[in-house]
Parts: sequence; C-alpha cells; structure tokens
Amino acid sequence: MNKKQKKMLIRIIIAFILSIMLKLITKLVDFNTITAGNYIIFVLYLIPYFVIGYDILKKALKGIKNRQVFDENFLMAVATIGALSIALIEKSTEYTEAVAVMLFYQIGELFQSYAVGKSRKNISELMDIRPDYANIEQNGNIERVDPDKVEIGSIILVKPGEKIPIDGVIDEGKSSLDTSALTGESVPRGVNTGDEVTSGCINLEGILKIRTSKEFCESTVSKILDLVENASSRKSKSENFISRFAKIYTPAVCYSALALAVIPPIVRIAFMNLPPLWGEWIYRALTFLVISCPCALVISIPLSFFAGIGGAGNAGVLIKGSNYLEELAKTKYVVFDKTGTVTEGVFEVDGVHHNVLEKKELLEYTALAESFSTHPISRSIIMAYGKKVNQKRVKNVQEISGCGIIAKVDKKEVAVGNAKLMKKLGLNYSECHNVGTVVHVAINGEYHGHIVISDKIKPSSKEAIRKLKSIGIKQTIMLTGDKKEVADAVADELEISEVYSELLPEDKVEKLEEILKKKNKGDVLAFVGDGINDAPVLTRADVGIAMGAMGSDAAIEAADIVLMDDNPLKLSKAIRISKKCMRIVYENIYFAIGIKSACLILGMFGIANMWIAIFADVGVMVIAVINAIRTLFVKNL
Ligand code: ADP
Ligand code: MG
Repeated sequence: MNKKQKKMLIRIIIAFILSIMLKLITKLVDFNTITAGNYIIFVLYLIPYFVIGYDILKKALKGIKNRQVFDENFLMAVATIGALSIALIEKSTEYTEAVAVMLFYQIGELFQSYAVGKSRKNISELMDIRPDYANIEQNGNIERVDPDKVEIGSIILVKPGEKIPIDGVIDEGKSSLDTSALTGESVPRGVNTGDEVTSGCINLEGILKIRTSKEFCESTVSKILDLVENASSRKSKSENFISRFAKIYTPAVCYSALALAVIPPIVRIAFMNLPPLWGEWIYRALTFLVISCPCALVISIPLSFFAGIGGAGNAGVLIKGSNYLEELAKTKYVVFDKTGTVTEGVFEVDGVHHNVLEKKELLEYTALAESFSTHPISRSIIMAYGKKVNQKRVKNVQEISGCGIIAKVDKKEVAVGNAKLMKKLGLNYSECHNVGTVVHVAINGEYHGHIVISDKIKPSSKEAIRKLKSIGIKQTIMLTGDKKEVADAVADELEISEVYSELLPEDKVEKLEEILKKKNKGDVLAFVGDGINDAPVLTRADVGIAMGAMGSDAAIEAADIVLMDDNPLKLSKAIRISKKCMRIVYENIYFAIGIKSACLILGMFGIANMWIAIFADVGVMVIAVINAIRTLFVKNL
C-alpha cells in the first residue's frame, strides 16, 4: 500500500468508528425530545461525512466549475447531500445512510486503486529486464557504468547472475543464458564465443566478455520497454466505446433521476388526487443515482486489456496495443511467410554444382557477393564458406528483394540468386534435379553453376498449425519467394491448405490484398513473417505478427505483435490469450450492465434502497476488477 492508500484507509476507519458511535448515541437518546436535537445530531453526522467524503465533494465542485459536471463524483455528491437533506427535513435523525454510501464508495475506490497498482507492479516486475549498469574494463579495473554511456564496439563484462545490458557478440567465454524474461521459455540457451547475444537475458554460468554491436537505446531491452510502455496508449474499440458510453450515460442517468423525482409526484397531485410524496420520490431518484455509477466498467475494462498485454508479454508475446489484442481474438485467417517463419531460416549447403570454376572458388565468390546481406540465405552461405570474408574485395552491392544479389567482386560482375534473377539478367542457367532452394551463380555474364541449399522446418511448426486449426482458424496460407517445389513440400508437410510461391515482395502484398478481399468482413487476417522481404505485408495485414525480436529490427518496427522466440507455437497461445481477455471484457460488460439494470428497476419501484444501491455498485466493481485481473494469468493457455 502506498501513502495515499494508507491515508484513505485511516479515513475509512475513523469515519466508520464515528458513525457507529453516533448510531449508538441516537439509539440511547431520543434527540427529537431535545430542543434542536435533530440539528445537533445532523451537525455531528457531518463530521464523519466530511472525513470520508471531502475529496469527492471537492472533485464534484471542480467538475461543475470546469463544466464537466457529470461524473461519478457528482453522482455520489448529489446522492449523499440529497439523502442528508431528506433526513433533515423529515426529522428522522437517519443520517447514517449518506455517510455509509460515501464510506462504501471510498472502500471500493481504495480496493480498485490497490488492485490496479498491484497489477501494474506485477507486470513491470514480470518485464523486469531493464539493466541498471554495464561492467567495463578500464585500465585493468572493472567499473560499473550507465549502459547509456557504452559505445558500440566496447567490451563489456557480464558475470554470472547479471543481466546482459546491451546487444552484442561474445568475444570470449562460454555460458548458458536464461532468456525467460524475453521469451517466456524456461530452458536455458547455451552460448559460445562468436554467438550473438541479446540484452535482457541473464548470464547463468561463466564470465562473458561481450563486444557490443548496438547502443543501449537501440538494444532489444530498450525497444521492448518502449513498446510495453506505449502499449496502453493504443486503445481498443471496447475501451473507446466505454469512455464514449460513460460520457452519454452519466448525464442520461442524471436527467432520468431528475424526472423520477419530479414527474411522479406531479402526476399524483394533478391527475390522481393523491398526496405527492416528494420525499419518497426524491429518495428513489437518489438511489437511482447511486446504482447507476459506471465505475465498474470504466475501471475494469482498461484493466483487463492491461493485464492481458502484461500476461502475454510474460509469455514472450509482445502486443503493441489493446486494439491489436482485440483484433487478434477475431483472427480467422493466418498467412505465413516461409523462410525464417515456419522454417529455421538456417540453410545447409547440400551441393555445389560447378562447371568452370573450382567448387571452392564458386563458394568464395558467392560468399563475398552475399557478405553485406542479412538474408538467411546469405548468412547460411557465408557460414558454409567458413573463412573470414574480406569485404574490401566487394563493391557496388545491389540486393534485389526476392531474387538475389548483384555485386562487383575483384572487379568481376557476380550475380547470385534464383532463376528469376538469371532471367532478369538474360542469362542461361541449368535447372537442378535436387530438391532444394537453388542459388545460381553467374560471373561476368557467364553461368558458373549453382549451390543447392535446404532449410529445415522448425520442430514446432507442424504442431503450431494443428493448434491453430483446433482453436477455430478457418484457413492457413503460405506465401513465399522460394521455388514452387520447395514451397509445396513444406506446405504438404505442415498441412497448410493454400500455398503461393515464387513471389516477389510486391507480389506478396498483391496476394494478400486478394485474400483480404475474399474474406468475410468480421474475420481478421493475421500475417506472420520474419520481417525480411515481408515488412510491407506485415504492415498491410489486419494484424502483423513478426517472428524474431531476437534478430530483425525491421520486424519489430513493422509488426503489431512480436513473438519473442521465433516459435510459431506462440501464435496459438497469443490468440488464446486475446480470446480469454476479450471473454473477460465481455463478461464484465454484461455482468455490470445486467446487475445495474436490475437494480435500477428495483430502485425505481422503491424496492431497492440506498444500502442495496451502494452494495450493488461497490460489489459489482470489486467482482469486475477481480475478474479483470484473471487475464494476467496465461500460463496454462
Ligand atoms: P521467403 O518468402 O521464403 O521469405 P524471400 O522473399 O526472402 O523468401 O526470397 C525469395 C527467394 O529469392 C529465395 O528463395 C531465393 O531464391 C532468392 N533470394 C532472395 N535473397 C537472396 C539472397 N540474398 N541470395 C540468394 N538468393 C536470394
Ligand atoms: Mg522471409
């Protein structure tokens, strides 16, 4: 509990004790027999009333001054002042009710601020990845410095138990890393000299010397924190609906209450020849005001989304706003990219078929030409080449998305890529009988052979597609720039129902538009890619989901949702989290509106009094908030 909450608790206790004491006194002494007794007890009751309610009265006054009259403070102020006035006029000495309404309202507020604070703290603890310092070696001493101050290319030291503060490459050392804060995965990842490591992971064993490859503000940790901090600013439709609803609803309730107070008594005198019973009807109108307080909705719905995003983040799924969470729950079509999404994106060289050059030379030229690219194919070929590439030998690199690369290596024109590239350059090439992705190589306009590479399907891809189907995804579709044979084989293996292959990045967008046009209006299409050659599609889809926050920056930027550990299984998890969250949001909407409408009707007929009203209001709010917090728990989804 923070200071403010403690202060409120003390106020609640004082007001509670004072009103009990006053109640006892009125039981023992009949104030109506004392001169001005009614006024004395009234003034005495004002003490607990102001103790508990002064801030609400102040806020209500401020609202009136700012011409934003209708809010819950106004409702509470009018209801309680009204109740006090009626009791004063009727000389009933029954002032407890007004104090009790304020008291319970404040108990509700206290509970809510505690619950919201608690869940916020919980989430920021779950996302506790912000490193406080980096160790730097300076003149033989190890010094702790602010991660912000570490320059690219510095060597930082990470001891066992410490967080890696900045992205980089291991220069020396061997260890295993706890990546769970980022990915939600509990199995440690073994790392060795030369491996890339991501900030936010915890070093479990040996001392690591890491050469930083980014500045702190560009590192994974900073990006994720930015993302999470900004997530609540993107509101979902349900949240917008509720805030618009509250704007219309509260004034509507106030005017109805006014009508309830005035019309029945007038009708009674004018047409029915009955006593008007002003007190009775005004009391009903005030009860009506208390019941109708919309705080259960106004609080619980944003809280549900907040907890949903937090729970997802804890499971390694970053959602950039509640609007995406809401959309995700309606997903019916899932479109996949192939390379790096359902496959590892780590190609193995199966064969080098050459005619003029030696095999080694062919591989060398290819690796050199590919050396500036971040495409999975390039990285794999460089890996297969195995030796250090001297990038100084490479000039004029031109990467043609979805086709390949043209570059000058040792003053020779080297073109490496698929059949499309060869056709584009007007070169003859020979087909390959092996199944696999083929990288053709031409040097100075002469065809020199090809390298056959193959990619492995991720171990969890098949299960991922099956799970998607089992949670009601209508169709799974794959788009890829790779050869038809390879694409079909992968889709077959994974039981993906539709495949489109040999697409350039712009063809992928076009295909996606076609699918978007065909689908039903309420259905949502999600595209899942790794951000390499598919950033435009990520942006175009209803929901863009990127694999691999661990690698590609383009993906984090373009996507609405990021799966932190490249695991396609997280997809169905993310959808289930969103569905649970939306279910809870709707439960709360129906529950709150249902109970309130029932109480409103009872109040109108004079069956529900103000006690029932305040219990209904605070009770509904407490239940709705507890229900909302359930969205935080996503472990077993
Ligand atoms: P995907 O849609 O499967 O992610 P891309 O659109 O990235 O594939 O690439 C499509 C095809 O273009 C690849 O299968 C490959 O044949 C060719 N290609 C793209 N980039 C390169 C490259 N850097 N080197 C060689 N071939 C490439
Ligand atoms: Mg790709």
